[in-house]
Amino acid sequence: MVASPISATVDFGAEGVNHGFLRLPYSRDDAAWGSVMIPITVVKNGDGPTALLTGANHGDEYEGPIALFDLAARIRAQDVTGRIIIVPAMNYPAFVAATRTSPIDRGNMNRAFPGRPDGTVTQKIADYFQRVLLPMADYVLDFHSGGKTLDFLPFCAAHILPDKMQEARSFELVRAFGAPYSVKMLEIDAVGMYDTAAEDMGKIFVTTELGGGGTASARTAEIAIRGARNFLIATGVLAGEVTPQPSQWLDMPDEDCFTFAEDGGMIQFLADLGDVVEKGQPIARIFPVARTGLAPVTLAARRSGLFTARHFPGLVKPGDCVAVIAEQVEI
Ligand code: ZN
Repeated sequence: MVASPISATVDFGAEGVNHGFLRLPYSRDDAAWGSVMIPITVVKNGDGPTALLTGANHGDEYEGPIALFDLAARIRAQDVTGRIIIVPAMNYPAFVAATRTSPIDRGNMNRAFPGRPDGTVTQKIADYFQRVLLPMADYVLDFHSGGKTLDFLPFCAAHILPDKMQEARSFELVRAFGAPYSVKMLEIDAVGMYDTAAEDMGKIFVTTELGGGGTASARTAEIAIRGARNFLIATGVLAGEVTPQPSQWLDMPDEDCFTFAEDGGMIQFLADLGDVVEKGQPIARIFPVARTGLAPVTLAARRSGLFTARHFPGLVKPGDCVAVIAEQVEI
């Protein structure tokens, strides 16, 4: 296969804290020999495992970039055993445009794996993670949030996997991360995901959904910063003690967890995130807005459980995911 066009300005084998870039040549109207410069920090101290931490896989999700720019600015090599690779904004063009997908090619990073070295900008970034960064890693933490169109109760998650050893180790790190909620996810649309690429290589992979609405709150930013630190300590790469946090485990066992809009219009929620709802309970109304005098359509919960995620903007379109209701479980 063709070599990646991306070159790193940091040496992955060098000791100490090194800040630099993944430089991706991108010829365009305003810069014929221009590049996309993706910030990266590599911290190495002696021999040990490698942890790879990423944010802004989707460009409008901020808890991850906050935690990782903060970590990169503060981390000291003497506190590390092994190596930490930090990429605060994986889809950097999307991050600087504050959009979910890349403004260059509309690429959704989490549907672009394994990527292509001769593809679009997003595909080239995915290919570099697939063939260069993931193979170096033992532990992978990829931050997500709801972005501009969803809002989540803050949770950390890993996937149900065929390899039960890999699955158990992943859930140990979810527990260590210490988000207010922890989720065992069975992915319904796993093709092209970074998660799947990492898991197929046998990596211990942990992800999050920490809020949303296209911003981060004081509380969710703090959860992300503490979670990244707890994760690194639990892998053994960072010195210190995990700060234990209470966490409620959630399960999303089937399609009934998800409610989709069949009408467009203005949405009025009748329950908020964190509310316990009963099957059949009205959770939202959608008003047609073309004229007055029309009754709104009521959406009912399709199962009982905890209101875990919701559509964020005030207007919805047919097919939008309006609500996610999860089951509270004891582990
Ligand atoms: Zn995301």
